[in-house]
Amino acid sequence: MASMMQPQIILLKEGTDTSQGKAQLVSNINACTAVADVVRTTLGPRGMDKLIHDANGSVTISNDGATIMKLLDIVHPAAKILVDIAKSQDSEVGDGTTTVVLLAAEFLREAKPFIEDGVHPQNLIRSYRTACNLAIDKVKSLATSIEGKSLEEKKSLLSKCAQTTLNSKLIGGEKEFFATMVVNAVIAIGTDDRLNMIGIKKVPGGNMRDSFLVDGVAFKKTFSYAGFEQQPKKFLNPKILLLNIELELKSEKENAEIRLSDPSQYQSIVDAEWNIIYEKLDKCVQSGAKVVLSRLAIGDLATQVLGTCEVFEEKQVGNERFNIFSGCPSGRTATIVLRGGADQFIEEAERSLHDAIMIVRRALKNSTVVAGGGAIDMEISRYLRQHARSILGKSQLFINSYAKALEIIPRQLCDNAGFDATDVLNKLRQKHAHASGEGAPYGVDINTGGIADSFANFVWEPAVVKINAINAATEAACLVLSVDETVKNPKSESAQGDAAAMGGRGRGGAFRGGRGRGMRRR
Ligand code: ADP
Ligand code: MG
Repeated sequence: MASMMQPQIILLKEGTDTSQGKAQLVSNINACTAVADVVRTTLGPRGMDKLIHDANGSVTISNDGATIMKLLDIVHPAAKILVDIAKSQDSEVGDGTTTVVLLAAEFLREAKPFIEDGVHPQNLIRSYRTACNLAIDKVKSLATSIEGKSLEEKKSLLSKCAQTTLNSKLIGGEKEFFATMVVNAVIAIGTDDRLNMIGIKKVPGGNMRDSFLVDGVAFKKTFSYAGFEQQPKKFLNPKILLLNIELELKSEKENAEIRLSDPSQYQSIVDAEWNIIYEKLDKCVQSGAKVVLSRLAIGDLATQVLGTCEVFEEKQVGNERFNIFSGCPSGRTATIVLRGGADQFIEEAERSLHDAIMIVRRALKNSTVVAGGGAIDMEISRYLRQHARSILGKSQLFINSYAKALEIIPRQLCDNAGFDATDVLNKLRQKHAHASGEGAPYGVDINTGGIADSFANFVWEPAVVKINAINAATEAACLVLSVDETVKNPKSESAQGDAAAMGGRGRGGAFRGGRGRGMRRR
């Protein structure tokens, strides 16, 4: 009876779903591990690809962590953090997206037993941050500079970095061919920071070895001239006329208005137009331009720009005809024309080249590299363990766990290649334990299943890729560890539904941001 008389205290609306503390943390960690399990098998040269089939029926084949994470429809709020770090790694450095997801999930997995034993997450977070700073210092001290080399030497060094990136991709079989192409493209655009200065044109069909690099601009034939179906044209040092498109559109519109307002004067306007066009054509001829570029039939000459290039050429690529402008002196650009079988193949090849381009640019800019194949990860791990010995208390355990988590990279490289990971890791630990430090560049030998000097074998990665990956993975792990409650509010969910139905902002970033804020305040 007494219990019935008790007044009810309602803090949250009915239907609000909450879970708190340890249980929540463990469930978030499990979700992140599950997500990492999806991309786990794609790591390294022997990694597998994923075929993702989305609701619209489109099919993507990819090995790129960021691409896979983007396509997976992840709804778990904590696991979404992993998607974000993969994306940010992709935009910051362009490669290492699988690495960053695996590291973050592994840091969390190592933290799980401590959380279950009742360790306060803040203690773990503090130790992880310390370990992260130590790890980054170590990467910096191990990085080797490629500064001060001749152009030829630099090119071959950069090509090594590009090859390491391409190793794990579909086009890995032709990594030397593509690495050279990427390096030439990056060097051609010089110090220009804009990624879009390297264009990639995809022409399905043919062999991937038919792909080629244009030191300039290439685009599909989009304009024609009398007899265009005749012999492909080729000019040396032609003058090129570029016509401003915006102004043309405006004058077209004005003309249309005159026509509408006074139909009787139609003929005289048409005549006048023809005169103007003839005049313009005369001017085109006078300018000496061999090639005129304009989106409309004929443009406003007042806004002309006269340029030149070394060679203008028309080239048949598959069943398309391409206009190729090479050796453009102003505005340095490069274009890669990609060939290959299926659409999915070409799409993946483009993503792979994008990774390689980013890597070469990073390496060129920062010009320091570290040994890949898990070598750098093993070395940081050893260093952290050594450091931890001097620390008293529980944080020694936490730093050791962080160090252990780093071993996931060589371990996964082995697992994916079908090697005995325990055996290889034991050998690597022994090698790295040498007091002389000579074992530092040793990593997984992907060809034999043993260990090898990754540095000597030119399995190189730009140091920034590793630094960024370690930083982002640690931050993500700490973020997940700092959340002890997720409140799912059914009301705000349905409010979103209404907004979407009303044709609001759709599913964009603003939308998601709104949901995050809604959750926090409750
Ligand atoms: P991510 O998306 O993280 O870049 P990848 O699938 O590209 O993942 O794999 C990168 C990993 O593969 C790096 O740790 C790199 O050092 C390693 N790797 C690349 N080439 C080789 C090789 N020839 N031998 C051993 N490891 C390699
Ligand atoms: Mg890669």
